[in-house]
Amino acid sequence: MRYYSTRSRGEGVNFSTAALTGLAPDGGLFVPEVIPAYPEAVRASLGSMDFRDIALETIKPYVYPEISGSTLEDLVQGAYPFTAPLVPVGDRLALELFHGPTAAFKDFGARFMSRAFSFLRRNEERPLRILTATSGDTGGAVADGFFGVPGIFVTVLYPKGRVSPLQERQIAGLGGNIGAVAVEGNFDDCQRLVKAAFADERLRKRICLSSANSINVARLIPQTVYYAAGAGRAFAGLTDADGEATPRKAGSARLVPGAAFHGPVKGEPLTLAAPSGNFGNLTAGLYALKMGAPIRGFIAATNINKTVPDYLESGHYEARPSLPTISNAMDVGDPSNFERIAAHWPYEELRRIVRGVSVTDEETRQTIAGVYRQTGYFLDPHSAVGWKAADTAVNAGFGATAVLATAHPAKFSETVEPLTGPIPVPPSLKTVMEREVRAQTIPAELSALITILEASL
Ligand SMILES: *Cc1c(COP(=O)(O)O)cnc(C)c1O
Repeated sequence: MRYYSTRSRGEGVNFSTAALTGLAPDGGLFVPEVIPAYPEAVRASLGSMDFRDIALETIKPYVYPEISGSTLEDLVQGAYPFTAPLVPVGDRLALELFHGPTAAFKDFGARFMSRAFSFLRRNEERPLRILTATSGDTGGAVADGFFGVPGIFVTVLYPKGRVSPLQERQIAGLGGNIGAVAVEGNFDDCQRLVKAAFADERLRKRICLSSANSINVARLIPQTVYYAAGAGRAFAGLTDADGEATPRKAGSARLVPGAAFHGPVKGEPLTLAAPSGNFGNLTAGLYALKMGAPIRGFIAATNINKTVPDYLESGHYEARPSLPTISNAMDVGDPSNFERIAAHWPYEELRRIVRGVSVTDEETRQTIAGVYRQTGYFLDPHSAVGWKAADTAVNAGFGATAVLATAHPAKFSETVEPLTGPIPVPPSLKTVMEREVRAQTIPAELSALITILEASL
């Protein structure tokens, strides 16, 4: 597959180059030359295929020929010992994306990316430095995915004081080849610093830099998999049993007695509500739709950082500074993946498949409390934004609607538990709080970041 910059056509690069360089030299994002369609036989059996087989079929055309055959099979097997169950909750479905080691959906992208990088660089002598900005969950997933990978060093920038204590320990508690930098500023400052570092020719001559942000195609593409798997299940009229760590109150009912259940009906495409910040997740969903997964459309669910819902409303894109909310992984005022969405989908077309809904913190809290009261299901603040926004689809009679549950509620217990009472903690999160935070604090200035990167040469 060839990849081109969103800003200039040029000659294009292969998957390996697109993944390892992260951002195109002109500052644009890499997009595939075409979004491939699933072979008909695959499309017809998405509902019954094993998650890993769907991953293989989905990722294959994007990484061919640099990664193929048994290498890709091994990579996918290693990356996904967990899946994404589609479970009924109250009057709709939850596509649970938090069964990976850091309990957020970013494990799907980060685990594939780390394995792909390690393979693609198998003959390289020079160490690779991965520089990534996080609003909360990316950092943990990237740190976990790359921890202990030889020849790769990771530097994670996060906004000081704006991530949860658990997130901070996932980012800054590993040590080894994982360095953590607490930036005095917000997520947009972190992202700006990363972009500035990439644009610094002198630095790039000295250090072999790559990004692990959701702009990276190696993270984006594997996120397409769970959309295809979830929509495939629903299209077959099926749901899954609760996952091992499904956060339900013991003995609670899966469905609300007396309420209409907008569950899957055989042959009906699924509407998915994606809690969105940097819009990597939703972009992957759009890819799945284009590949032929049985998806009716999307709800782009944001908190009050509603740059994209406003764009969908007005046709006018206006970046803003981000505002802090209780769904902090979505506090993004200028989502980087928007450029990629705009490169693929003209405004009018996008409006037909995506509806934008913005949700306040007050509504988010009410949703967490209300859903728990009615169903015994614990939503994390991000998934609750998705749930509330999905009301639009449920009330409009769009048929089966799934909310992407992007994080396990135990990751945000300080927000959720006052509204619900104690959440059962999955084993993967139990040990994290015991880790010691080891981060360097810097002002939001490029020179401070460069000092840290050069010191570690
Ligand atoms: C990162 C994140 C989001 C937002 O995903 P984007 O791809 O940045 O839109 C939503 N929920 C959680 C829990 C996240 O970690």
